[in-house]
Amino acid sequence: MSLKGRTGLFGGTFNPIHIGHLRVAEEALRHFGLREVVFLPTGVPPHRAVDEGVPAEARYEMVRLAVAGHPHFSVSRIEVDRPGPCYTVDTIAAMKELHPEGIAYIVGADIFSRIETWHDWPRLLRSCPFIVAPRPGISPATFRRPPFDRAEVHLLPMPLIAVSSSEVRRRYREGLPVEGLVPPGVDAWIRSHGLYGVRGGS
Ligand code: ATP
Repeated sequence: MSLKGRTGLFGGTFNPIHIGHLRVAEEALRHFGLREVVFLPTGVPPHRAVDEGVPAEARYEMVRLAVAGHPHFSVSRIEVDRPGPCYTVDTIAAMKELHPEGIAYIVGADIFSRIETWHDWPRLLRSCPFIVAPRPGISPATFRRPPFDRAEVHLLPMPLIAVSSSEVRRRYREGLPVEGLVPPGVDAWIRSHGLYGVRGGS
């Protein structure tokens, strides 16, 4: 089924948002003719504690800075404002109400390959089409096998972008350069707020 004109939803911890996330959103927008991409920073992620104790509000702000000025990108507070754990299946249901043009959920292959750990995953798999971005170590064949045969899966044809938030956090901690990995406005915000163990003046 064509995804043209749908709204892409891109959920993540975004701790912090990096160039890989923005490139995935750009490629999905262009390749599938989406009308826009809405970034959905998680509030309290159900799967894991947020490393380095960075609150949802700070992760939201970094996404806001990264998408500011992009004509087809925006950020939603839906998960940030929800108290307690957020489940993607509930977010998707709520966003479908807000977007009668239809939605598609954008996700990296690493995260999607672990779908069976997500809350109410059988319903989630059937709730909307998925756009799956390549990540190292996950074969596209994974998504042709059960349980993914229950879902409408669209593989996003793009090169692997070898950047992750954990790598970015490590680079900050170790005082290594992050040029080309983090948008400049986000980098400035991280430094001015001393996140990720950034050392003053670095
Ligand atoms: P961490 O290193 O802390 O696990 P991350 O870089 O995977 O973080 P998340 O905020 O967890 O970032 O990712 C949000 C979504 O973006 C996930 O679906 C993830 O798979 C995807 N994603 C993150 N980085 C990339 C990348 N470089 N290429 C493709 N997809 C990515």
